[in-house]
Amino acid sequence: MPSGDATRSSPDEVQHPPPIQCEACESALQNRDGHTLSFLLLDRLTVPVVGCDDHVTEFASVCGLTATDRTDVIDHPPAGGIRCPSCQLARYDIGHPVVSVQDGAVGILACQDHQAELVDRFHEGLDTQEQLTASLDTSR
Ligand SMILES: [Zn+2]
Ligand SMILES: [Zn+2]
Repeated sequence: MPSGDATRSSPDEVQHPPPIQCEACESALQNRDGHTLSFLLLDRLTVPVVGCDDHVTEFASVCGLTATDRTDVIDHPPAGGIRCPSCQLARYDIGHPVVSVQDGAVGILACQDHQAELVDRFHEGLDTQEQLTASLDTSR
């Protein structure tokens, strides 16, 4: 019996994230009881994110490279609350995307629109960071 048609039974493209090497991130992601929730303020956006302090800070600083206003991370809900009602509800969902940040991972607990926006900004920020590094390398 050939055993090669296992792929046919799973048509969904389930993406398995790479293993998280940062234990602090992993435990933060597993333990979504609110203690580890951080709030990323990026321009006008307020997005709940989860991960260890180090990697949330790294994530924020990379996203911040694309920001025109200010970037900040706070560990309590902002005074004005989260403005996007979908994001408020999204906090209680499971199955949020996890973005690899160096050897850690940060979960984005936002609505789909804001998830996509934040992931975009992060990748843009990584490009910017690369260009900065590259220009430093070549300008000796
Ligand atoms: Zn981490
Ligand atoms: Zn939203």
